[in-house]
This record gives sequence, C-alpha cells and structure tokens, in this order.
Amino acid sequence: MTEIISGPCSAESEEQVLATAGALSALAFPEGMRLCAFRAGLWKPRTRPGSFEGVGEAGIPWLKRVQEELHLPVAVEVGTPAHLEAVLKAGLDMVWIGSRTVTNPFAVQELADCLKGVDVPVFVKNPINPDVQLWMGALERVRKAGVRSVSAIHRGFSFYEESRYRNAPKWQVPIELKRLMPDVPVYCDPSHICGCREYLGEVSQRALDLGFNGLFIESHIQPEAALSDASQQVTPAQLKELLDALTIKASTSSDAGILSQIDALRSQIDRIDDELLDLLAARMQVSAQIGSCKKRGNVQVLQQSRWDAVLSAALAGARQRGLDERAVKDIFEAIHRASIEKQI
Ligand code: PEP
Ligand code: MN
Repeated sequence: MTEIISGPCSAESEEQVLATAGALSALAFPEGMRLCAFRAGLWKPRTRPGSFEGVGEAGIPWLKRVQEELHLPVAVEVGTPAHLEAVLKAGLDMVWIGSRTVTNPFAVQELADCLKGVDVPVFVKNPINPDVQLWMGALERVRKAGVRSVSAIHRGFSFYEESRYRNAPKWQVPIELKRLMPDVPVYCDPSHICGCREYLGEVSQRALDLGFNGLFIESHIQPEAALSDASQQVTPAQLKELLDALTIKASTSSDAGILSQIDALRSQIDRIDDELLDLLAARMQVSAQIGSCKKRGNVQVLQQSRWDAVLSAALAGARQRGLDERAVKDIFEAIHRASIEKQI
C-alpha cells in the first residue's frame, strides 16, 4: 500500500484547515493508495524573518477537529522541545522533524530526549545537505529514544547551482539510506523537491518506481492564496488527478517469462561487472607504475593538463557512445581520485 500524507504547507485558519482536510478525506484514492494522515505546519522554519512563520499553538484546536470530526490522523512539524510538548499534550498523532532541524544533531537530540517514553510515529526529513550519515544519525537518535515507528522523508537537497528543482533530488542518497537502514520506511516529499506544481507527477512516479513507501504532498484548498509555498501546493482535486496518473509497479513479477529474461540479463550484467573490475585493477596497476616513475623523477602526482585531457577524451567517448556525460564524468572523477591516492 502506498501511503499518502497530504495537507497544506501551513495551517492558516480554521476554515482553510477544515476545508482542505474535508476535501482530502472525501477523495476516492486510486487502488493501492490511501490517505493515512493530514499534514499542516504550525511553526514554519522560514529562511528569512518577516515571512509568515506559522500560527503556532493557535492551530492545535483546528487539527483536533480534523482528528475528531474526520477521523483523520494529523501530522505536524516540531523543531523544538516546546513544539513537541505542545503537540503531545494536545494528543496529535504524528510528528515530523524538518530538514533544517535534522541538520543540527543538538536540536535532534533535544527532540529525542523529549520523545523518551512517548511512542508517536516520527518522520525524519533528510538534512539540507546530501549527508546520509547525518540523516541516519537523526533516525538513530529518535529510535534510541524508544520510538518504534520511525520513517524517513526524502525532500531533496539544497544546492548553490541553478537547478530546475527547488531542492535537487540526488536519488542515490535515499537509495543508500535504504541499503544502510533497510527496515526504515522511506517516503518522498515531491512538493519540497520541485518547488512548483509542474514536476510533481514525474518526481512522484520516480519515487514509486524506486519502491518508496509513500508520498508527502502539500495541498491547499486555494493554493494561489497560500501564505507559504504557494507555487508548489495543489488543490485536493489536482492531487487526485496527479495520483490517478501514477502507476504503481509491483516489486516483482509473477510472469515466469519476464523473470527468466531478467535473470538472464542480470547474469550478463554480472559478467560485464567482472570485466569492469578486471579493467579497473589493470588500470590501477599501470597507475601505480606511473606513480613510481614520478617519484623517481621527483615529479608532482597531480598533472592538471593530463587530467583535463583524460576527462575530455572520456566525455567525447561518452558522447560518441550515447552515454550520459554526467554519469561518465562522475565515474572518471572517482577513478582519478583513486588513482591519485595510489600514487601518493
Ligand atoms: C514542510 O514540510 O513544510 C517543510 C518546511 O519542509 P522542509 O523541512 O523539507 O523544508
Ligand atoms: Mn512547505
């Protein structure tokens, strides 16, 4: 089952909260998906002061109404122990720790201390920078507090470079998290990755194709009038359209023909990987020989013009073969780094 958590970026008024939650809970979700909670931020971590910073505790009774009248669990962001205490005292259902907070282990530990003996589901967003250890550390701190339901949310990473995304997805980071912590469910928050409505569908589909457990998508009864993140929120009706257009693929197939074809292709991949490793070992050996020549000749290890030439040749080769140049660049940079290490 793909779990959907939706609701506005911020709780703005009782009417907005109830109208959005009411419309969401009236939607017929596509098969294989269900609305498992309503999200709304009460305390908003804004980049610059002076923007709308949330209604704070004043919004708690509105969320209680969602819980009680619509029987919909509610999730809010907590950034400080005071937020968490207010949420727990009110008996709200779930909390998430935002990206900026996760970046600071002191802040996460303070929240974890406050979670001791309380077993509410906690969602931990990825830190702002693509550091899987920092993300794991936050998940571990919450787990160590005794919380049994701990999940991760992938919301992309902040980058200085221009990007079509608000927060670059860097999918290899959540994939690595799944490898390191296979029992932690991973959700995707396409809203904060995209920063706009246009790409929500493709990012959500990618998350489903990668086997994510659910989606966190911001929705608002009147997105263009939202007090925060207006350009990325969708109406409940648009959310339904978006979800209807997604395809949930099975984690495996029951078609024996497909399975045996995949098996045969995987054997081919395994053979090619072996050849690649042989080639890499041979390359490293030559690199070590060059290293000793350089030592004997008292020549510097890094030869910038040679590296420029190697990389340009690799990129030209990638172009000729129709390979993804970015991927080839990453691979050659890793090879070059290892080669330099070998020569030092
Ligand atoms: C949010 O979910 O509204 C939010 C502030 O998210 P993030 O921590 O991912 O920026
Ligand atoms: Mn938001």
